[in-house]
Amino acid sequence: MARKTFTVHTSLLFDPKKKAFVENVSMEVDRVGGSIARVFSRDDDDGDEIAKNDDDIDLRGKVVLPGFVDSHAHIFIHSYDERPASEQMRDVSAVERIVRATNHARAALLAGYTTYRDLGTEALGAADANLRDCINRGITPGPRLFVATEALASSGSYETRVENRSLGGRGTGIGSGLTAPRASDAADGVDGVRAAVRRRVGDGADLIKFYADYRRKIGPREDGDILFPPARRNPAVPLFTQEEMDAIVSEANLAEIPVAAHCGETRTALMAARAGVTSVEHIFEDTHAVADELFAALRRGNVLWVPTLAAAELLSRPIFEQVKASVKRAHASGVRFAAGGDTGTFNHGLNARELEVMVEAGIPLVDVLVAATVGGWEACGGDRSGFRFGWFEHGNRADIIALDADPRDDTRALRKVSFVMKDGQVWKHRGQPVADMVPVPQWPDSNGGSSDGGGADSDECIDDGEPWTNLSAARPHRLSMSVPLPVYQPRNAPV
Ligand SMILES: [Zn+2]
Repeated sequence: MARKTFTVHTSLLFDPKKKAFVENVSMEVDRVGGSIARVFSRDDDDGDEIAKNDDDIDLRGKVVLPGFVDSHAHIFIHSYDERPASEQMRDVSAVERIVRATNHARAALLAGYTTYRDLGTEALGAADANLRDCINRGITPGPRLFVATEALASSGSYETRVENRSLGGRGTGIGSGLTAPRASDAADGVDGVRAAVRRRVGDGADLIKFYADYRRKIGPREDGDILFPPARRNPAVPLFTQEEMDAIVSEANLAEIPVAAHCGETRTALMAARAGVTSVEHIFEDTHAVADELFAALRRGNVLWVPTLAAAELLSRPIFEQVKASVKRAHASGVRFAAGGDTGTFNHGLNARELEVMVEAGIPLVDVLVAATVGGWEACGGDRSGFRFGWFEHGNRADIIALDADPRDDTRALRKVSFVMKDGQVWKHRGQPVADMVPVPQWPDSNGGSSDGGGADSDECIDDGEPWTNLSAARPHRLSMSVPLPVYQPRNAPV
C-alpha cells in the first residue's frame, strides 16, 4: 500500500520568502491532500542514502522552484499572430475556443505554470469558471485557475469591434438583427457597477477585472489606413469615474475577492490605486512625468503592478523600451510586481517570456522570481484565494517545478522546465509529459463480467458491483499527450 507521503529531494532550491537560493532541502508531500507536509534541510548530502523509497523523487542537480503563477492570462485566446483578437471573439465557435483552451491549459502546466489568473474570457461569458471547475475535478489537466469571467467596462467601450453597425448593434437601426458577442459586462454608475460585481460573483468569478481606460474608437488604430490622421489617433480615455472605481473595489471587498484594473494610462492607474485595487495591469503610457506620484500611490496601497512586458514586446514595439524603463524606475522606487504576460496574445506555454523581459528590463532575477511566485499568490488574493502557493511551507500546495539550467547563469533557463508537480501530482518528469494527461475509461478485468458481453445481463452487471458503464473516467489511463506545444517566435523581437 502506498505511503501517505513521499519525499522530494533537492540540491538547489529558490526560496521566495528568503529571496535566495538554498541548498540541500527536502520536502515531504502529502499524496492525499496534495500539500507540503514538511520542509527540512539535510545536513550533509550523503548520496544514494536519501532516495531510498521507490516513490521518492530525486531532483538533485536541478534548480527547484515553486510552480509559477501567470497573473495575467486569457486561457481562451491564442496568438494574435495566428488570428486577430476581434476575429477570435467574433468568428470562432465556442467549441473550438474551449477545445483550444484545454490545449492551452496543458501547455501552460508543462511550462511550469501551476496557477493562472484568467483576466477575462473575451466574449465567452463565464466559460473560464467552468474550465476552472473541469480542471479542479480532474477532467483535464491545467493550472489552478482564478478567473474574472467577463471584465467590467462602461457602456459603449470595451466591445467586440464590428465596424458594420448595420449588423444590428448600436447605430442606425438598419440591419439584419445579428449582434456580435459581448466582450465585457457593461455597467454604469455606482449602483450599476455594484450590480455588475454581484453578477460576476454570481457567475463564479474569483476576482474582478475592470477596464479603467480603453480606446473608444473602432477605426483609426495605429496601423489604420487613415489619409490625414489626428495627432492622437485613438487615445485611451477613462471608462469609469473615481466613484465608480471606488464602488467596484468596495463591492469586491464584500465578496472578499481581489480586483485587477486594466490601465493603459497613468492617470487611470492613479485612480485605480486610489480606489484600492489589488493590481494594475499594463501602464504602457510613459510614467516619467508622474512617476513620483504614481509610484507612491502604488506603494501606499500595496498595489501590485503586472506590466505585461511580453505583450508590449509583441504588440507595442515602438514604446517597448520606454515601458521597460518605467518598470525599472518603479522597481527602484519600491513598487512591487506580479508577473503575467497577457498570455494568449502570444501562445500559452511561452509564459516565461514575461520573466525574461522583466530581467532584461533591469529587475534582479530574485525579484522577478518573487513576482512569479509569491507575487502571483498575492495577486490571486493571498489567503482570500483559499490556498497558499508560491513558496514552500507546511500546508502549502505541493506545486514544485525544476529547471535543467540555472537562471543565474543561463538567460533561457526558465524555458527549460523538466519537472512539474501540481497539488502533489507529477505532470512532467525528465523533460517529458507524464502519460497520464487524459482520463479515459478502462474495461474491467476478465472477471468483471461485462467485457466479453456474453451471458451477463444488466442485472448481473449491477450485482457484481462493476457495471462497465460506471467505470470511472476519472481514473487516468496511460495515454500519450498529443497536444502541439508552441514555439516561441516573436514577430519583431530578438530572442
Ligand atoms: Zn489582458
